Amino acid sequence: MTVIGITACRRFEDYRQAIVHAGGDARPLDPSMRVEDAIAGIDGLLLTGGGDVDPSRYGEPAHPAVVAAEAGRDEFEIALVHAARARQVPILAICRGVQVLNVACGGALVQDIPTQLRGALAHSLPAPPHESTSIAHEVWIEKDSLLSMLMRERLLDADSCDVNSRHHQAVKDLAGGFKVSATAPDGVIEAIEDPTTRFCLGVQWHPENFWRTGEFRPLFEGFLGASAEPRGARIHGS
Ligand code: MN
Repeated sequence: MTVIGITACRRFEDYRQAIVHAGGDARPLDPSMRVEDAIAGIDGLLLTGGGDVDPSRYGEPAHPAVVAAEAGRDEFEIALVHAARARQVPILAICRGVQVLNVACGGALVQDIPTQLRGALAHSLPAPPHESTSIAHEVWIEKDSLLSMLMRERLLDADSCDVNSRHHQAVKDLAGGFKVSATAPDGVIEAIEDPTTRFCLGVQWHPENFWRTGEFRPLFEGFLGASAEPRGARIHGS
């Protein structure tokens, strides 16, 4: 069975369920592990949500609204990104995960959307009384992206879909070699991907919360499919 390493976080169960419902085997990865051991036993890497990446990682002083992640996560997860990319292990990155992915590959973040982006939509819907699957805004998906290919049968009006949203940070300066694959109507970057690797995709919303109803199951199935392939066998789009 295809083994997906999932980085430890407070809301682990939805990520695990999303992988299991797509046919994968979930393995928790936490910062007490050696990176070499963590990467050795997995076919795909799922980077999960959580607190903010320390802005010193992209050379900026911290905005007062920055909330640190659990100790050790930045270092461990950034090292995991490098190890996975070196070994052509597929990566799916969610919320904090897309921020980790972008910073690990040389990008920078908007540190606090409400105070730094004038006119931005509400991207940080509180949890209760909202359901984790409450729709916050739509995203516009770039044609000819991996994301668009995966989601093509679920898209509204050919190129948009409705998403939940629980983030106060977002990609600002895109990592070299990556492209933006979705934006919110206010211009906030909602998904990025590396078109030169077979599967390296990050989304800013929480597709894993929808595991019961399956709106984003194609994302997880595509990730599982890429993870099951022999390494180096195929580059997406070629
Ligand atoms: Mn959002």
